[in-house]
Amino acid sequence: MSALQNRVGFVTGASRGIGRASAQALAEEGVRVAIGYREDKEGAAAASALCPCSIMVRIDVTSPESVASAFDEIEKALGPVEVLVNNAGLRRDGLLMRLKEKDWDDVIATNLTGAFRCTKRALPGMLRGRWGRIISIGSVAGSVGNPGQANYAAAKAGLVGFTKSVAREVAGHGVTANVVVPGLVDTAMTLNLPAAQREKLVERIPMARTGTPEEVAEAVRFCARASYMTGNAVTVDGGIA
Ligand code: NDP
Repeated sequence: MSALQNRVGFVTGASRGIGRASAQALAEEGVRVAIGYREDKEGAAAASALCPCSIMVRIDVTSPESVASAFDEIEKALGPVEVLVNNAGLRRDGLLMRLKEKDWDDVIATNLTGAFRCTKRALPGMLRGRWGRIISIGSVAGSVGNPGQANYAAAKAGLVGFTKSVAREVAGHGVTANVVVPGLVDTAMTLNLPAAQREKLVERIPMARTGTPEEVAEAVRFCARASYMTGNAVTVDGGIA
């Protein structure tokens, strides 16, 4: 039996892509997963169908009220969240000289402040139960940078510092915090990359291909199972970083 059997998990942005694959990997370990979605209810239903004992929960991580009510709902239905996957994210690319304040703010609010908000809400339950896993989805852009992604790279780099600090705060209480750092993965987020840009990016990948959501989800599964790893950044990028 998996060490994660019957634990309660919550994956934000699980309606598709890396979030959906992560929810499925956790469900395979026996985790009862809450599938977080913001707009894509149909996608969330499809994800939920893949995960036995799951529920669907609407959450906008940029709204404190929405985060509070999503956690309340999960606690009522399943119990306190024990495995939190901060996956919700978006990009609003643009070269810095033309980057709008709103695109900076939206990316930081979703990718970084959203993770702070969910982690803060999940922590008291984890500390009470003396067991918890906080897993945030970063990006290689956060460690190597990417032209046109100053906002996104700043948010993802921020997640690493955030995680390392939280890890140190709670390490003595059975709670770990780690970041999974994907490279270029085929999802809706990367579908609209111009072909020439995609080709250039793939040329820089030693494994000469993009990754799949399932390959990233294996690292999420590992971080959830691992008991002696915290404050770490696990890179899943075909060798790029
Ligand atoms: P997708 O665009 O396929 O999925 C993003 C998910 O985030 C959706 O489920 C969406 O929900 C949700 N979301 C967006 N904004 C919010 C919000 N304000 N509140 C709650 N949920 C929200 O992207 P990926 O699967 O590719 O990305 C998942 C994570 O992986 C992101 O953090 C991304 O930055 C990261 N990543 C992705 C890489 C890639 O190459 N694809 C590379 C490195 C990191 P809904 O549709 O319901 O609105």
